Amino acid sequence: MTIDQFRALLSNTDLFVYERSVDEAENTVAALVRRGLEKLLAVAGERAETFAGTEENGLKLCPLTNENAKALMALFPYTKPASHKGHQFTMGFGDRLGLATPGHIRALGDHDIYPVLAQQSIRELNLTHRTFGDVISAAAFNVFQEGYKKGYGADGDHLKTKDEIQYALESGCTMVTLDCSEHIHQQAVTFPQEGIDALYTALPEAVRAHYEGVYLDKDLPVIGALSAEELRRIVIVFHEGIEHAVDCYRYIDEIKTVPVDFELSIDETLTITTPAEHFVVGNELHDAGITPISVAPHFSGAFEKGIEYAGDLNAFARDFVVHQQIADHFGYKLSLHSGSDKFAVFSTVGRVTKGHVHVKTAGTSWLEAMRVVAEADPDLYRKAHKFAIEHRPEAERYYHVSTNVADIPNIDLENDAYLPEYMNLPAARQTVHIAYGLLLDEAWFHDAFFAVMAAHEEDYYAALVKHLGKHVRILTAETDV
Ligand code: ZN
Repeated sequence: MTIDQFRALLSNTDLFVYERSVDEAENTVAALVRRGLEKLLAVAGERAETFAGTEENGLKLCPLTNENAKALMALFPYTKPASHKGHQFTMGFGDRLGLATPGHIRALGDHDIYPVLAQQSIRELNLTHRTFGDVISAAAFNVFQEGYKKGYGADGDHLKTKDEIQYALESGCTMVTLDCSEHIHQQAVTFPQEGIDALYTALPEAVRAHYEGVYLDKDLPVIGALSAEELRRIVIVFHEGIEHAVDCYRYIDEIKTVPVDFELSIDETLTITTPAEHFVVGNELHDAGITPISVAPHFSGAFEKGIEYAGDLNAFARDFVVHQQIADHFGYKLSLHSGSDKFAVFSTVGRVTKGHVHVKTAGTSWLEAMRVVAEADPDLYRKAHKFAIEHRPEAERYYHVSTNVADIPNIDLENDAYLPEYMNLPAARQTVHIAYGLLLDEAWFHDAFFAVMAAHEEDYYAALVKHLGKHVRILTAETDV
């Protein structure tokens, strides 16, 4: 089967062909096609038998199932996620809908950024009723649709247990972001010194001897000297988290079948990560022979979902420089979580890291989808908007946000032309942002929403190029050559 023969077969059908997808390997040609609003894989040639579908006009037409995604990844290895080791600038693009990837790829433009196109947390999977397998399949089909061959990663984001790690790796994830927050003694940050001392004295002698031997009376790189009081507090807050990280890292090493990128996240804590805390965590991993690919400290200021950074930008920049020195010392990169829409810090992040950084985005791509809905189907948007406001207390159980619904202009007083403006208002953004799971659970919304998105996919890609392209532009402005 040649590409020309394949195209001839396609031309006798009513199928719309995604031109960039047409590709050939092992005497087999395949393309992503669409009939009405339904996407399919068209395959012909020797390997067609590895796909499940129906014969039509000399072609096999295959639904976009996880099994067919596996067959596609086997035939065209560039559609399969891979480790991003060696790539300086990496960026996570969470896609809760399985629709955004072509826009994410186009938003990269010519920048040398390795994208992690499949990135979901367990919380996101639960709220959207998807599996890691579903997420990776969607990314693979979308990568194929775009004819994108530069590689991408798949991040099991904010995994907390070995079971979750096993699930992610067995599903094909190539990155694990380990969230140690449940093993970090967060309250102890504010305990009085006597409380810390009591807990510390109760620790096994070997643990205390280890920490005191390594950190006391030393001129430590980057951070200088640590007082005994400071060290005890850090040990009480972090030592179980560190043990958990080492334990999980060894587990990954034991079960992985392909290279896996290991990120340690300590960002979902109550307090900001001090340089001394970061140093001790980095150093303990280092002494255990572990170099994560990236570490996500809890940076100063507020990194809330879907809105601009809030806080003291000078303080952020000062802290960030020190965290970068620690990351350089141990040989990993910093990772910025909830990186969507934090335009005010991007110049600093790009400059200080010299473009050697990982930045995660997610919810903003859902908001761009809602912008498309606001433009294409005002009635559906109005209904969803009101639902999101009504259900905000429920949605706040999953996400912390600080904006106030009272700041959202009353939609009954606004005309249709105004509706996309809501996606520029912080309070409306956060309210719609955190409602995604609840909305997608509503049959009236789910079906109408996916129909609108299928009919307006190019509009969606264009919106993502505009919005995420702005992220990329500011982040890379000083490091691109
Ligand atoms: Zn995080």
